[in-house]
Amino acid sequence: MKTFFEFNLHHSITRAISEMGFEEATPIQEQVIPLAVSGRDLIGQAQTGTGKTAAFGIPLLEKVDVANDKIQGLVLAPTRELAIQVAEEMSKLSVYKGVKILPIYGGQDIGRQIRALKNRPHLIIATPGRLIDHMERHTIRLGDVETVVLDEADEMLNMGFLEEIQKILAQVPTERQTMLFSATMPAQIRRLADQFLKDPEHISVIPKAIKAPTIAQFYCEVAERQKFDTLCRFIDIENPDLAIIFGRTKRRVDELASGLQKRGYLAEGLHGDLSQNQRDQVMRKFREGQIELLVATDVAARGIDVSNVTHVYNFDIPQDPESYVHRVGRTGRAGREGVATTLVTPREMDHLHFIERINKFKVSKRPVPSFADAVNRQMQLAVEKLLDTMADGQMESYVALANDLLDEHDSNRLLAAAIKLLTRETSEVKVELTPETPLRSKKFKPSGGRGADHFQGKKRYDRKDNFRGRSDKRDFHKDDMRGNRKRPGGKTFREPLNV
Ligand code: ADP
Ligand code: MG
Repeated sequence: MKTFFEFNLHHSITRAISEMGFEEATPIQEQVIPLAVSGRDLIGQAQTGTGKTAAFGIPLLEKVDVANDKIQGLVLAPTRELAIQVAEEMSKLSVYKGVKILPIYGGQDIGRQIRALKNRPHLIIATPGRLIDHMERHTIRLGDVETVVLDEADEMLNMGFLEEIQKILAQVPTERQTMLFSATMPAQIRRLADQFLKDPEHISVIPKAIKAPTIAQFYCEVAERQKFDTLCRFIDIENPDLAIIFGRTKRRVDELASGLQKRGYLAEGLHGDLSQNQRDQVMRKFREGQIELLVATDVAARGIDVSNVTHVYNFDIPQDPESYVHRVGRTGRAGREGVATTLVTPREMDHLHFIERINKFKVSKRPVPSFADAVNRQMQLAVEKLLDTMADGQMESYVALANDLLDEHDSNRLLAAAIKLLTRETSEVKVELTPETPLRSKKFKPSGGRGADHFQGKKRYDRKDNFRGRSDKRDFHKDDMRGNRKRPGGKTFREPLNV
């Protein structure tokens, strides 16, 4: 591992890096930074959470000439959240160099963005849809851009942004440096790279699966109608600080979040149908610990970096083995321990084995917890709380009151009442969820052929045919798409939502 001093960066950048607490470069940074600084085109492939933002952000900032007030660099990101996250991280890295960075995304008042553009940013971090908007209004000029980064390129293609990317890149001078980052490398990404990158160096840091000892992986075989109670029991038993619960569809996410709330948990759902404002609020509450359970679809949770997630629950088993790795990787970050539990219906057991086979790891079985298990654990937690409080001391003001009570009441019963009061009641409020069709692992060709299905599912750009189960269409909804628009070819497709 290298320290950042070895890259011979401008001292204003190394200083900011040190202040962010980065001591060593991550593997992808170690390989990307020198190559990117030298001006090469490159493809960087590494899992979420490996520091790709700084890998391209540092060279971008290094290259900027702050005396030049033109837009010199452009980063494209799939969603509003990711654009903001990249802009925030890069702003921190640039505090001493004084590079002006502007995020541009849908949902924000365009007038405000136009005014911000007049402030002459050096770098733009944009979602494709909104950037096109500005290009069409001539409120942005890309004629001086020297560096382009496509971040989370696979996700941008999954969201149907190919055409937008092509349109944007056509307006950037061909004499430029282009970098493409992606967690996965399906054929469409290679085609995109062939089209827009010049003799790129391919850097990949592929994790050796996630047998990292920091994440314990379990599955629990349970009937569809018992999944909700089972989830609640696990939450009661494991008492997560912060957990992400993955649901297959947006309806599922809504039903789960409101079911959990009914049972008294601090839960909220996150998916593309929420307004920008609501999404921001949910993420902020989650980061600040005001909610303990975030219920999300794959797309909504993708790339979001929350470091202290202790538990991941796959309420629905994911369709795609890679998606399993991404979901589970939301916990156990920054070297902390994490636990991931996947609920699997009997008919989905084959699919679980398929995920294990592709990812080359084993997921251990854990039994279905009983109601009594949950109740006992909650009592135990109450006792722990009581003992911790006692160990903390500082109870002088309560002691006199305690003495009075003991004069009048039986100490056993008194203590039992205190424990009862502290015990979180294990709720059995009835919650009904709309059942989901089980996933199938067998090779499955959608009727109507590939062409017909091409724009329908989240995985329209199929990586491996055998993932294309029929739940593709259900998984999708409007999580990443909105509205209908005529393509130039006459075919109707759904317009990407610039979230
Ligand atoms: P990716 O884009 O690969 O998913 P990010 O760039 O979002 O990953 O980085 C994940 C987290 O790791 C961020 O919180 C980031 O600040 C942190 N990080 C990045 N590089 C380093 C480093 N060299 N040392 C420590 N933390 C880092
Ligand atoms: Mg990233």
